Amino acid sequence: MERPSIIRKTASDLYAIPNWTDYEKERQQFSWDGARQALQGLPDGGLNMGFEAVDRHANGALRDHIALRFVAHTAAPLELSFAQLQRETNRFANVLQQLGVVKGDHLFVLAGRIPELYISVLGALKNGTVVTPMFSAFGPEPIATRIQLGAGQVLVTTDLLYKRKVKQIREQMPSLRYVLLVAEDGGRTNEPATLDLRQLMDSASDIFSTVSTMPEDPALLHFTSGTTGAPKAAIHVHGAVIAHYATGQYALDLHPQDRYWCTADPGWVTGTSYGIIAPLLHGVTSLIDREEFDAERWYRLLEEERISVWYTAPTAIRMLMKYGATLAQQHGRPALRFIASVGEPLNPEAVWWGKEVLGLPIHDNWWQTETGGIMIANTPAFDIKPGSMGRPVPGIEAMIVERLEHEGELPRVRIIDSPDVDGELALKAGWPSMFRGYLNNEARYQKCFSDGLYLTGDLARRDADGYFWFVGRADDVIKSSGHLIGPFEVENALMEHPAVAEAGVIGKPDPVIGEVVKAFVLLKDGYAGDEILRMDILAHARKRLGAVVAPKEIVFVATMPRTRSGKIMRRLLKARELGLPEGDTSTLEGSA
Ligand code: ATP
Ligand code: MG
Repeated sequence: MERPSIIRKTASDLYAIPNWTDYEKERQQFSWDGARQALQGLPDGGLNMGFEAVDRHANGALRDHIALRFVAHTAAPLELSFAQLQRETNRFANVLQQLGVVKGDHLFVLAGRIPELYISVLGALKNGTVVTPMFSAFGPEPIATRIQLGAGQVLVTTDLLYKRKVKQIREQMPSLRYVLLVAEDGGRTNEPATLDLRQLMDSASDIFSTVSTMPEDPALLHFTSGTTGAPKAAIHVHGAVIAHYATGQYALDLHPQDRYWCTADPGWVTGTSYGIIAPLLHGVTSLIDREEFDAERWYRLLEEERISVWYTAPTAIRMLMKYGATLAQQHGRPALRFIASVGEPLNPEAVWWGKEVLGLPIHDNWWQTETGGIMIANTPAFDIKPGSMGRPVPGIEAMIVERLEHEGELPRVRIIDSPDVDGELALKAGWPSMFRGYLNNEARYQKCFSDGLYLTGDLARRDADGYFWFVGRADDVIKSSGHLIGPFEVENALMEHPAVAEAGVIGKPDPVIGEVVKAFVLLKDGYAGDEILRMDILAHARKRLGAVVAPKEIVFVATMPRTRSGKIMRRLLKARELGLPEGDTSTLEGSA
């Protein structure tokens, strides 16, 4: 279907008065110092992420407002008001104090999306303890590697996960002084230094004075998704909270009366920055679904929980699309007014699907573990160009650069001023949620910067209106017959074909033309992957992209290798194609 290249917003698209409407004016007026004024700060001039998220509201008008609402298949919903969250996080911080766990120590959490995960992350932040939530489906090896790298002193986990995954690797983690167990199965264990968290919490005081932290003190250690190689550990500071607040306002349009649902697990940066911190900062009620993806259930939650702002990911949207419009139409979305997506490029097809089937366009935004918060976004303040990741949020300067050949160790770049040229996406360094290092890898950190710019490793282009368009990861770009081809463009064209549910595109080495474009295609239910369909998809791609850019080869696959956060792992498609070692697969979906 031919569609216009822009989605113009009208009053009927805006169910609440947006937080902002004038992009240029807001950008001019904005300063990070100004943004900090929205927060309270500590009496000694410090800043603490946990205090701003919880105590600021618990001590004020929102004290009895529901902060977190947990839902699960088998358990009744459980709610925590800001005041209750304050008491619980105080108890947890006091437990840490009693155990001698202090500011700067490292705490890891390995648990499903249970209340204790949120309480321990926020309580640790208030104690000045650096915290890392890990994805609960990790197997023993990825758990041990992460705790070793972060020299974790404390691990909060459940008794079940402990028995299944941690007990056998405990000796590999000599830094670990305590394991605190959430009782799902009785909680008791005779293991040394393995304590029952509830017991400790019950005897701890619920009064705690937040440990003084400064904006530059480390707060969170986040591991990247491992899409392009072994995950890296990015260090984030308490000052990042200023960016969490500002982007919650600009890119997610959070209003205090919202009921908000971020579908990401806190094991990924999205699930922490925007699944824990940002919504609390804005005093909204967050839904936390303890279950995994299930299309029918997700539609039911949007309806019954009266979700107004929904932050999800392309993989989930593509799966909902795969189930078709009928399922979507069987459910209402009575309060939904804003949908955003992150993690991977969002195909224009998906943006339009939102508009046509859910009744709202989907706002794609771009950021990375390293950036700590949303950098480029489609926002309520301007029209959407489907397929574009939007424009830089206030406080962020983004540009396209070219790397220059030179002898030195550190990169040198040239800024490309003209629009519509592909190059590397770079950001002017210095925003509050920028990572402050890769743990134990200072050399790699240094190589991410040049002349005050942070080089993202992603390729993009900027159009004349200042919108940014994702081209591909630098590692994934295909070089064919002297052309540089971004896999995203090819995948988008394939996605337009009615039979295609998902597509992953790689460059396959070729002695004559460098690389040939090869596509792996997952079909929608009800389509048979036969030769006729293959030729039809090829013909469609040729028509849309021309013979040079269109795939030369298409194979149908039954599953797509994805990270646990749902990103297509093109490096695995390539390694498998070439029979090469698969490298670090700790974040691969389905791996143990
Ligand atoms: P690793 O760095 O370990 O290979 P990763 O880069 O996938 O993993 P994350 O920090 O979780 O780890 O993901 C950030 C990356 O995800 C971005 O650099 C970009 O490549 C991709 N990404 C995120 N959002 C978008 C988006 N809206 N459009 C296109 N790509 C996106
Ligand atoms: Mg990355």
